[in-house]
Amino acid sequence: MSEQATPPVKLRESVLAVPAYRQGAAPTKPGFKLSSNENPFDTLPEVVAAIAARAEDSNRYAAAAMTELRGLLAAEWSVSPDHVHFGAGSVTILFQLVQAAAGPGDEYLHAWPSFEAYPSLGLASGATAIGVPLTERSEHDLDAMADAITDRTRAILLCTPNNPTGPIIRRGDFDRFMARVPADVLVILDEAYAEFVTDPEAVRGADVIGAHKNLVVLRTFSKAYGLAGLRIGYGIGEPSIIAAAASVGIPLSVTGIAESAAIASLAPAARATNDDRIAALAARRDELATALRDLGLQIPAAQGNFVWIPESGAGVPSAQALAADFSEAGTLVRPFPGHGVRISIGEPESLPEVLRIIRAHL
Ligand code: PMP
Repeated sequence: MSEQATPPVKLRESVLAVPAYRQGAAPTKPGFKLSSNENPFDTLPEVVAAIAARAEDSNRYAAAAMTELRGLLAAEWSVSPDHVHFGAGSVTILFQLVQAAAGPGDEYLHAWPSFEAYPSLGLASGATAIGVPLTERSEHDLDAMADAITDRTRAILLCTPNNPTGPIIRRGDFDRFMARVPADVLVILDEAYAEFVTDPEAVRGADVIGAHKNLVVLRTFSKAYGLAGLRIGYGIGEPSIIAAAASVGIPLSVTGIAESAAIASLAPAARATNDDRIAALAARRDELATALRDLGLQIPAAQGNFVWIPESGAGVPSAQALAADFSEAGTLVRPFPGHGVRISIGEPESLPEVLRIIRAHL
């Protein structure tokens, strides 16, 4: 990325200090793109048809109320429609919630490494991000996170399963953690990869949302539903918190096309196909994790649509070096320098290629 020139107008110093979010690089050779946790399946034909139908009305704004989709999700989560909030991707809602809760001098907590956007969510609002290191098993250290709560803490982000490392947060650990969180501190349970979870011990947002008024659960259509390019995610929480998030949001940023695609994805037949796809991706993930463990690598519990190879312990000596070997072979993965490499679950043919590159690297 090129050096940024000094802007010709006065901009806020705090904003200029914020590094821009960087997406994984575009492939330069024919190969597999396993760097953004995308869904490798083609968009379902009925979803494409819904997109095409709505595209004919592109002269019209989407109705901000999004009544049909809101109703579908409210019924699924057993909440009233005012508990549901939409964003142009769940990352938009993350920004809104942190902005609504944490201003200058305030703090918000997140695990680290976790979703790369977390540290910068509060920079524009002047809040300080506190990253709490994961445990040696690459899991959230909930005791350390609870210890890190101060009277300046306004929000806590929990990511389950954790991107990029893979482990879930167990229900019992979540309950114990919530008992230590002051009732007036916002907790955000980011479940971007929840559909891929097979561990029965995992906390499920839908099971705990009713018990905590300070909890917002985030979901997305980007991963399990394969609509990353359309940008639509949602949050479930107390209407008064949802309303505050909406107040700081940019109006009308969720498109009618994204809304139509999401509705089509929730139709029973589309859901059934998607469930099969999710099961196939989870099985492929387990196959890759097992094969990597058989090579002697220490792979943490993989519960998303990705597998993590740590840089420490029985992992690889250098995340950068491994990612460079992948890139050389035309396959893109995501290195987190100093921490490890994340490999998204892609097409079936990507599996032998991933293993070939790693074997050659070791
Ligand atoms: N949360 C987590 C943990 C993620 O990994 C991502 C995407 N990589 C998001 C939220 C945002 O997803 P989207 O904005 O596409 O819904």
